[in-house]
Amino acid sequence: MGGFVLGWEETIGNVTVIGRPFSQVSATKGYNKLLVKARINDAVTIARRMATETRNLVSKSMTAAIEMRMGPGPHGLVTTLSPTVEAAVAAHFKLPAPMTQANADDWTDLFKYLNTVYMMISQGINGPLKIVDIPSADKLDTNGSVSLSDAKALDTADPSGLRVAKRGRIHINFHWVTTRTAQRVARTVIHEASHKFVGARDHAYKPNKPNYAALTPKLARTNADSIACFAYYTWKNGAYALD
Ligand SMILES: [Zn+2]
Repeated sequence: MGGFVLGWEETIGNVTVIGRPFSQVSATKGYNKLLVKARINDAVTIARRMATETRNLVSKSMTAAIEMRMGPGPHGLVTTLSPTVEAAVAAHFKLPAPMTQANADDWTDLFKYLNTVYMMISQGINGPLKIVDIPSADKLDTNGSVSLSDAKALDTADPSGLRVAKRGRIHINFHWVTTRTAQRVARTVIHEASHKFVGARDHAYKPNKPNYAALTPKLARTNADSIACFAYYTWKNGAYALD
């Protein structure tokens, strides 16, 4: 159940940041409101670029996979797969690297799917966004969540709305955001956005190394942390720039 009680709310551009009343902010894990607002707005700006850049990267990688599948022409392979992307696919989507002509079908299929995933996330987070503190103060170890209970009004208003309408607001731990970089918070925005906009699940979190390592390619595709970490680590390892 969402136990969130509205405290303060501020909108910058099309991003609304909503906090609980200060009487309900944890004494030990509280936050500076100005810092929270600045960090979340920076993180959303970065997450929007991250989603767009990742989609561009995936689109280019898809071309490389299709060319690999056809085999080199008289001029060799025109588009090559970035080694950073290849390593990130192996780490987060569990396809055995390297990509070869023999397995290029699997890579093509994955990139086609990811192209849609990051397009939908990008479209979703570029629209008006409400970022709300986590629903209950007793879940202070949670970085973020997407509530299902908030979605009832949306379903009524738009019965034809697909998975998007079944998911509610994005919650992010306001104390936690003040302890991390805007880029790291952006990763959590993408994680939560993958629940909200493409119906991703939590099969395994990256910090749980054994579970994350044991993901199958099939499960990794719909795993929120795999989708978020692929975007985050391809940036961190230099496959694309954020500025
Ligand atoms: Zn999640």
